[in-house]
Amino acid sequence: MGALSGVGVGRGIAVAKVLRMPEPLAPPSDEPLAADAGAEHERVRQALEGVAHELQARAAAAGGDAQQVLEAAALMAQDPAILDDVRARLDGGANAERATWDAYGAFRDMLTAMGGYMAERATDLDDVAQRVVARLRGVAAPGVPQSDEPFILVARDLAPADTATLDLERTLALVTEEGGPTSHTAILARSKSLPAVVGVVGLLSAVADGQRMIVDARAGTVVLDPDDASVAAALVERESRAAASSAPITEGALADGTKVPLLANVGSPKDAPAAVALGAEGVGLFRTEFLFLDSSSAPSVEAQTVAYTELLQAFPGKKVVARVLDAGADKPLPFLNDAHEENPALGLRGIRALRATEQILRDQLTALANAQAATEAELWVMAPMIADVEETEYFVGLGRELGLRTVGAMAEVPSIAVVADQVLEVADFVSIGTNDLTQYTLAADRQLGSVAAFQDPWHPAVLRLVGMLGEAGAKAGKPVGVCGEAAADPALAVVLVGLGVTSLSMSASALADVRAELLTVTLDEARERAARAVAARSAAGARAAAAA
Ligand code: PEP
Ligand code: MG
Repeated sequence: MGALSGVGVGRGIAVAKVLRMPEPLAPPSDEPLAADAGAEHERVRQALEGVAHELQARAAAAGGDAQQVLEAAALMAQDPAILDDVRARLDGGANAERATWDAYGAFRDMLTAMGGYMAERATDLDDVAQRVVARLRGVAAPGVPQSDEPFILVARDLAPADTATLDLERTLALVTEEGGPTSHTAILARSKSLPAVVGVVGLLSAVADGQRMIVDARAGTVVLDPDDASVAAALVERESRAAASSAPITEGALADGTKVPLLANVGSPKDAPAAVALGAEGVGLFRTEFLFLDSSSAPSVEAQTVAYTELLQAFPGKKVVARVLDAGADKPLPFLNDAHEENPALGLRGIRALRATEQILRDQLTALANAQAATEAELWVMAPMIADVEETEYFVGLGRELGLRTVGAMAEVPSIAVVADQVLEVADFVSIGTNDLTQYTLAADRQLGSVAAFQDPWHPAVLRLVGMLGEAGAKAGKPVGVCGEAAADPALAVVLVGLGVTSLSMSASALADVRAELLTVTLDEARERAARAVAARSAAGARAAAAA
């Protein structure tokens, strides 16, 4: 029996045999084409066709979001521009594997350079290339393995295409050697309520296919080859945690009755029914970008009014916090800012971009005010990336001028925490976006794998900033919520409340686990855990200190 630890996602327990994800293929050799070029063209054609058919068949079997991802991948296996490039490389003397690998690699680099949504599709191209090369080599394709038995999936890390093709009926837990709390694996685990432990150092060299394992997401541990007594104890604990998470939906509260409203993050009106069904007490972050991302100009006030009204109607009498357009960096929008910036995350984004194009902001606030007037929801409106009180005064002033009743600021730029007292004199509330707050506090691009370890909201520096905001909120008598991914981590949610956070907003799928965890502590205990976490010297230290 051996134990390893990493970063737990959720609070569930799983006991099952391990299924390892095959490692990616080694790059092909540079040896020039020895075979007859005509035969090599035919071999590549058949491999591409085979991969396209296989992906189409898996798309049809998968349904839902996975279907779209797989259909898009199938199209990539037949993309005429890529095929032309493969043929040209074969004609230039490259062998079949090399020609395919390089052609897909060139398109991958092109997408990566475009940034944003396009860059996120780059890994899908890698996946298609690996499948084609596997066929040419006659070996098993990398990617998510299939099994008739329930299993715990062990992998280096999961790519978006892998996460879409996972068999959720049989996958009981995810364990990865790499990746942090905001990796694709962690996001998938959270959205599907799957227990996971990510960033488990030494995992791949310690675990073999078919080995029995206990995964404890709350503790962030995996136990290899557990004895029967450990398995029996884990199964009892699993049932008790599952029962707590599926308990009847109650309002978010601590064990001593302190209320902590639990709200949902939504990306469009179509997310509302699931949020309501899972017991969201309102919406803590309505990301309004969905209306803007696919268009080349801002939508009209009328079109926006219709969409916002649709969402607000789903929450009569409840709070809905809408964020005005957050463009720039990971959410590029050419009509707001098409200037080339070396560091777009530090550029004209969020409130800065809106201010530079004020009519777009005025139109959006007008549409939100129309929706407020047309529905029974309690609408709060906030701006992303507010850095100081001057920007707060600007946004709150404009919101009030256009008829909005409750206007606040998102805390994502660390400076806002330093001047939180000034900001909370003006803003009606603050909502902390821990994804960006962590990125800027640790100077670690949230989209960059090489610095993913820094993108950890448990870092004591981030927690101290949250504490400064919580304290300023308490002094001003105004709410300070959290709407970043951190709120979806049950153990961290407790610490955030201990730091003075008054509401938590998360993907609806995380609500049950967070609700259950909050009920296990009093406010005094939450404060004690918070005090231990902020005194720690690292993110891992804070996790351990809070759990001690
Ligand atoms: C955040 O930064 O934490 C946040 C909630 O906003 P987004 O993830 O949309 O940038
Ligand atoms: Mg943000």
